[in-house]
Amino acid sequence: MLCKDLSNSEPIVIPHILVIDDCTSLQRFIHAVLSPTCVRMSFADGGEEGLRLASELHPNLILLDYEMPDCDGFQVLRRLGANEQLRHIPVVMITGNNDQSLIESAFELGVCDYLNKPFLPVELRARVRSALKTSALVEDLRKQLKFDALTGLPSKANLIERLRDSIARSLINQNCSAIMFIDLDRFKWINDSLGHDCGDDALKEAAKRLRASVRSSDLVENRKSIGTVSRFGGDEFVVLLESIPTAREAELVASRILKVMREPFQIAGCMLYLSASIGIVTCNGQYQSPDDIIRDADIAMYEAKDAGKGCFRFFEPGMRNRAMKRWQVDTDLRQAIEHNHLRLQYQPIVNLKTGLVESVEALVRWNHPDRGTIPPNDFIPMAEETGLIVAIGEWVMRTACTQFAEWQKLDPNGTPNHISINLSRQQLLQPEFSELFRSAILQSGISPSCVHFEITESEMMHDLETCVQEIHALRSMGAKIDLDDFGTGYSSLACLHQLPIDVLKIDRSLISNMASGGQYSKLVDLVLKLLSETQIQVVAEGIETLDQLQKLRQLHCDFGQGYYFSKPIDANKIPEFVNSRRMAHSHVTEIGVLEIPITIPSLFSIPRMQTR
Ligand code: C2E
Ligand code: CA
Ligand code: CA
Repeated sequence: MLCKDLSNSEPIVIPHILVIDDCTSLQRFIHAVLSPTCVRMSFADGGEEGLRLASELHPNLILLDYEMPDCDGFQVLRRLGANEQLRHIPVVMITGNNDQSLIESAFELGVCDYLNKPFLPVELRARVRSALKTSALVEDLRKQLKFDALTGLPSKANLIERLRDSIARSLINQNCSAIMFIDLDRFKWINDSLGHDCGDDALKEAAKRLRASVRSSDLVENRKSIGTVSRFGGDEFVVLLESIPTAREAELVASRILKVMREPFQIAGCMLYLSASIGIVTCNGQYQSPDDIIRDADIAMYEAKDAGKGCFRFFEPGMRNRAMKRWQVDTDLRQAIEHNHLRLQYQPIVNLKTGLVESVEALVRWNHPDRGTIPPNDFIPMAEETGLIVAIGEWVMRTACTQFAEWQKLDPNGTPNHISINLSRQQLLQPEFSELFRSAILQSGISPSCVHFEITESEMMHDLETCVQEIHALRSMGAKIDLDDFGTGYSSLACLHQLPIDVLKIDRSLISNMASGGQYSKLVDLVLKLLSETQIQVVAEGIETLDQLQKLRQLHCDFGQGYYFSKPIDANKIPEFVNSRRMAHSHVTEIGVLEIPITIPSLFSIPRMQTR
């Protein structure tokens, strides 16, 4: 019911007051006092009836008697408080008892005021007016909480309510609905590298695109379906599609969302590329609570991330086990960092002309108390997902620098020329990464020029502009940059020499296919020729056979790394390895056969046998 407030032309909603009191004469008194004040009133003769009317009518205020025959006011208060839909309704307690401890308990249970019987009409009016003001404020706040201030989309609280309604409806109508949990891939990088204002702009744009992709009017083939987009939090959105005939409908909407999210975002004058990962749950009445639905959609979303991001996955019950395992890995990994269960091994990088060790690559391992040694591919991607890589990476950098200093102190001849440290993009994009590096250098006392940072091709090329700035900062300090896993990303061969890099590491997948003389051999040849005119040096990764080594030497590749020379080994084995290569080198030089092509297997096989 609406009426006009004369002092202001806004229509106002007439407040609804529920009086719960078994005393009919008091009910009549309240009615007589309040009815001229433009309020609507309902009356209940006892606690049970009062609770029923409260959930039916959702009044703006409850006047509640403390003493009633069926249940006392405290019981009613507790049950109101336990009900999510009702707990926000302000309550004024009416009591004939002036006991202070009772009044205190009533406030503890959430009443906003109390009236002591007998009371005057003026007192009743004043207390009701003040409680209704509170009610209006609470209602305003509830409305604000229902919508996300940044995007204008329904909020998480609102979504939960809608899901609850949807579950109830689907139990009656047997309708099918789908819930999509959408996470923006790489969004954190925008916040980290361009700042939160740009992050906000990207979220607003993403919300706009989502809304356009889920227009209910054109939900494929079925115009009765309803689509709601809400912001779940951060860069997470949830789409609820109700009354869809089949899961196929959800698939079409998900494909449309993926497509629009892949289009470039124009933020702060930059073209940014994002994508989304989507987990989908279809419900046919099998879910009881919104939390369960969201949990399963979230699990499916993680599967989409695992599958390479930028795709969708439908939830299957088997995914729950995998999610539990992932959660366990995350918890264990946090403990591993805390309890020093990570360690480094080092894999030599050999100069293919001299046979000497040029560098060693630090490779992290996890000594799990129950599962033994876990290789990095089983936990680094997960650490990148959760952000733990930043802490792990810092530990790797400090440990590797300190280790390098120890080798130098112990045996300068048995120390490689430099050390290669893998760097994740997230580390590179930390605002203070070059400062962290400076601190690792000071702490260990080594020269920054002894450090090479390896950044994978796909990570560097994905957002070259942002990476380049940090790379320049590191290079100006003296460190070198190696482009890792070349051949697995998207660099254009023609532009290679323009990248701010010192070394290019050709990925094992190219090297292992080279010996067969196919396309890859030509590609490696082309890369080496292109770079021969530049300062960029080349490391061939994953050399496993003499055949591959000979081929690479013929193509004048500078350096090589792989099981043919050595697997990654513990730090204490490195001086021995470096010295053994040196001895082999001087021996060959003495007898004057260094120039002989590497058909002498002994030159390269000696150290390998020694490390066994
Ligand atoms: P990567 O940077 O390409 O490192 C080389 C990987 O290839 C190492 O595996 C190494 O053991 C393996 N490898 C070397 N030679 C051969 C060979 O001849 N044959 C074969 N089959 N494999 C060879 P690992 O140690 O398991 O590391 C895997 C990946 O994990 C690394 O690939 C790197 O991307 C990542 N990783 C390792 N340590 C770190 C770290 O400290 N930080 C970061 N961000 N990533 C790391
Ligand atoms: Ca590497
Ligand atoms: Ca590599």
